[in-house]
Amino acid sequence: MTNNKEQVIIIGAGIAGLSLAIQLTNKNISCVVLEARDNFGGATTGVRISAKGVKILEKMSVYNIGESTEELLMYFGEDKVKFDIENKPGESPAIIVTRLAVFEKLRERINELKIPVIYDFKLNNVIESAKGVEVISSDGQKISGNYLVGADGVGSKVRRILNPEGNSEKRYAGYLGLGFIYPSDEKIEMSLFNSINGNIGLGSIGKISSNDTHKNNFLWTHIHMTEAEASAITDKEVYEQISEKAKSWSPYLQEIFQEIKTNPQTVLYHQPVYNGSVPDKWYSDKMFLIGDAAHPYGPGGQGISMALMDAEALCDLFITGITEEMKANFQTTRATIAKEKGESAEERNKPENQIAAKSALHARYKFMKDYHLSTGGKIEL
Ligand SMILES: Cc1cc2nc3c(=O)[nH]c(=O)nc-3n(C[C@H](O)[C@H](O)[C@H](O)COP(=O)(O)OP(=O)(O)OC[C@H]3O[C@@H](n4cnc5c(N)ncnc54)[C@H](O)[C@@H]3O)c2cc1C
Repeated sequence: MTNNKEQVIIIGAGIAGLSLAIQLTNKNISCVVLEARDNFGGATTGVRISAKGVKILEKMSVYNIGESTEELLMYFGEDKVKFDIENKPGESPAIIVTRLAVFEKLRERINELKIPVIYDFKLNNVIESAKGVEVISSDGQKISGNYLVGADGVGSKVRRILNPEGNSEKRYAGYLGLGFIYPSDEKIEMSLFNSINGNIGLGSIGKISSNDTHKNNFLWTHIHMTEAEASAITDKEVYEQISEKAKSWSPYLQEIFQEIKTNPQTVLYHQPVYNGSVPDKWYSDKMFLIGDAAHPYGPGGQGISMALMDAEALCDLFITGITEEMKANFQTTRATIAKEKGESAEERNKPENQIAAKSALHARYKFMKDYHLSTGGKIEL
């Protein structure tokens, strides 16, 4: 069909793909984004974005979304540890925000910059040659360009094309990820409740989108179950299962859950969670990977910041010049950071690492208390 000779073809209109498109266009490097879905939308949820991620959003003129995080409160049963989040003077702090609010702003920038986004284009194959790349969709459309960037998420097709021999399929991570967004003007700093019945997060996220008339808070957790159960579970069943778990929550959390259950404006989001193995190859002569496509770790509060930072690093590579050394450096640097953040989150989320007894909860509290002392009560997020 089309034969636009765009310089960079980006597969996937997620945070990684859109932010790369904006940053490249700001540097006068032309690009096109190809997206398998038929729009940007979809279910929303709360996500945490680190201060480094927020800085990159601001570089793209994305401001004033979500709620800042100044503190991190960690609960271990009745015990509590409070960290002050180290924010750099003059720089914006980390935020918790809805995915929709981020997309809305990125979409505005995409429209202002007139960046072409083609929907319903599901990448099926890539032909790479010395001249560039030709991408082919599942219904036979073809588009050619100079370079290809796979920003196509945890189940990345580009990752599989780059790593045909590798273990690059996505895998079910073993649990259902879920969150409740409920209207509230009460500011809640990011709070993590370590409990015997699974871990729970809570925090303020601001407006769901710019049309929203009120602020919101967000409670998130996960439930271990089979993939078939996680794919088939209904909202009603999620409420039933969380109600059962909530019986052992602290009175404060139970009160919040009561508010969530009774507020008709509560938005419930749930989905089976997937991950995968970090591939050996993040690049070839004309292809690159960024975001979850490059480091398919399960959720740990870092994926979006990682996607933003990958996009910035790859944009820099396009500007400074693509040499073999620079490409290797891009992969090594980005993979090291992703591994450090991603693997610790994966460990935390494993069923065998959930706290099973009060004594273990107390031991973890003591460990955290010592860590609190050793860091002077400050933490960088
Ligand atoms: C339950 C849950 C909670 C999370 N919470 C957080 C959090 O609090 N903080 C945080 O930082 N991260 C969080 N994450 C992780 C975060 O959502 C991801 O790391 C981030 O969205 C990755 O962005 P991405 O652009 O790389 O991929 P994605 O957002 O997955 O985007 C990939 C895009 O590529 C498209 N695509 C896929 N295949 C093709 C194809 N063949 N052809 C064309 N297009 C294709 C997809 O439709 C999609 O639009 C969470 C994840 C889950 C599941």
